[in-house]
Amino acid sequence: MNELEFLASTQLHYEIDHSMARYCTYRVGGPAKYFVSIDSVDDLVQAKAFAERFSLPTLMIGKGSNLLVADNGFEGLCIQLGKAFDFVEIDGQVVTVGAITFLPIVARQTAAAGLTGFEWAVGVPGSLGGAVRMNAGGHGSDMAANLIDVHLFDFSDGALHTLSAAELKLGYRSSSIKQTQLVLSARLRLERGEAEVAKQEISEIVQWRRSHQPGGANAGSVFANPEGTHSAKLIDECGLKGFTMGTASVSEKHANFIQATADGSADDVYRLIEHIKRVVLAETGYELRVENRLIGFD
Ligand SMILES: Cc1cc2nc3c(=O)[nH]c(=O)nc-3n(C[C@H](O)[C@H](O)[C@H](O)COP(=O)(O)OP(=O)(O)OC[C@H]3O[C@@H](n4cnc5c(N)ncnc54)[C@H](O)[C@@H]3O)c2cc1C
Repeated sequence: MNELEFLASTQLHYEIDHSMARYCTYRVGGPAKYFVSIDSVDDLVQAKAFAERFSLPTLMIGKGSNLLVADNGFEGLCIQLGKAFDFVEIDGQVVTVGAITFLPIVARQTAAAGLTGFEWAVGVPGSLGGAVRMNAGGHGSDMAANLIDVHLFDFSDGALHTLSAAELKLGYRSSSIKQTQLVLSARLRLERGEAEVAKQEISEIVQWRRSHQPGGANAGSVFANPEGTHSAKLIDECGLKGFTMGTASVSEKHANFIQATADGSADDVYRLIEHIKRVVLAETGYELRVENRLIGFD
């Protein structure tokens, strides 16, 4: 049985040579050889059997807001959670969230329920699962501040696991979640607060984002901030604001953002990332760490 025959024999919703540009906020990048949408544990088991049978690497994606996939694409199995994993359940101060749920929705729903502590996430256009993986954060907080535990499926042993926040070793924009592990849901513990106060904070954060960050095709901060300074400041000091390579440019509004162009090239974004790293190292001595997840590049 070849790959296509195998897929056709499963219940999986799958696509072949599926453009990743439509799933990534950079809006560029090549196709995933195989793409499946997961709506049940049974789907997970079948996806695992497929990946294993044909020795395919796996790539979990959420909302693609921190991903850059090379123009040549990804020669493996890309996995995204479907509607069954899009939910917010509030029980007192404990909030259980499906991993594909959009963070701004979690922020707004918890604020409206009179819970406080997750307002910061209104400006982060990712999924809950991606946010756990990255330990996303902002405005003085991060996922680690409120996470109780996660429920995940591990493609290496085919089992479901519940891991506590401590076991995930959440650090600055990092966690111990492996490439084979797919977060399915997470539980957060928030504080009781005033809905009107939380909603006001959300409005202020939205306003702040609009005035400080660019819109368009980008994936937020490209580089993590080095200890004691900001990547945006270093890039700006090197005179790189507005610097363009092919179809990718350093944002004029925020030097740590790269803007891609519609119908542009992921490889141009990658070349620009490499250029920024070289210039910043040569001129300031700082070695920038790329925060964006790079897929399919050497
Ligand atoms: C305009 C803009 C502003 C941003 N601002 C911020 C900010 O303030 N703070 C911040 O931290 N980030 C910010 N980001 C980056 C991004 O939104 C976060 O990193 C977000 O958490 C990524 O979530 P995602 O669902 O889009 O993940 P993706 O980009 O799809 O994936 C990111 C990583 O997570 C993994 N992953 C995704 N889903 C799962 C899952 N269910 N299980 C296991 N692994 C998974 C992927 O394999 C990949 O390694 C910003 C991005 C944009 C475009």
